[in-house]
Amino acid sequence: MDFQNLLDDIAGTVAASPPRGEVAAYIPQLGAVNPDQFGIAVVTGEGEVFSAGDANVPFSIQSISKVFALALVLATDGDGVWQRVFREPSGNPFNSLVQLEQEAGIPRNPFINAGALVVTDRLLSVTGDAAGTVLDLMRQESGNPGVGVDPVVAESEHLHSSRNASLAYFLASCGNLENPVPDVLDNYIRQCSLAMSCVDLALASRFLASNGVRVDGTALLSSSQTKRINAVMLTCGTYDAAGEFAYRVGLPGKSGVGGGIVAVVPNNLTVVVWSPGLGRSGNSVSGLNALDEFTTRTGLSIF
Ligand code: GLN
Repeated sequence: MDFQNLLDDIAGTVAASPPRGEVAAYIPQLGAVNPDQFGIAVVTGEGEVFSAGDANVPFSIQSISKVFALALVLATDGDGVWQRVFREPSGNPFNSLVQLEQEAGIPRNPFINAGALVVTDRLLSVTGDAAGTVLDLMRQESGNPGVGVDPVVAESEHLHSSRNASLAYFLASCGNLENPVPDVLDNYIRQCSLAMSCVDLALASRFLASNGVRVDGTALLSSSQTKRINAVMLTCGTYDAAGEFAYRVGLPGKSGVGGGIVAVVPNNLTVVVWSPGLGRSGNSVSGLNALDEFTTRTGLSIF
């Protein structure tokens, strides 16, 4: 299938239509990003790359990193992490404190911040360098050795990490962290601060659309593990807007407050969009519109 005309069309129309949301100002460096940017990239099962707009501009992947950290924990450590984090939609903002207390320090799912802190904690225990392990996977799968942590974003996030520190100390008080809070936070912030383009991310996510098989042909995950990660992305990947995302896009997806969204058509392709303006739940407004348009016009959805 030749996606080029479709992507050009989406970049030209959907991206330009208002409203476009607000950039994430709670991490000041993200607030400094030009909101008038939009990129979209598709990578097919055969490895063909299609892209339009600002698809080669690196942006802060933020919570998209949580999918890769989860994949690495399941790949290296099996199912043990599910004793420490649930896999139900939260129906609450991604950085909610109240739900974590009500549920005695077991986060609702691995994609809200509390759950991702637990996953990163486990990856740190298993590998000794959680963020470095995520970075290596990103470089290998995208084939781009230039992928790295944006130090300015990382510093900005460190300086404004009180909310995540609160979540981490609460997890520790419930006995649900294995490593010191500052180490877990540092790894979490570095993985969130990775800078990648739509094309990089669409290439790096291919294992989610290929039953867990990596670019080099080895298995990162089994088909069953891949199915499960995609299921958690569908139900929890866009937080308290996961129902709306499933309704409009109909694909497993994971967003980040940098404005990126990775979506997966299982056994087929990955599609990544980026536009910095966010809606109320922290998902890219133009990105969601573009994915809606993509699946509506191609009929490529899991439903
Ligand atoms: N690093 C961000 C945070 O911890 C990630 C949130 C997001 O992308 N939804 O707040």
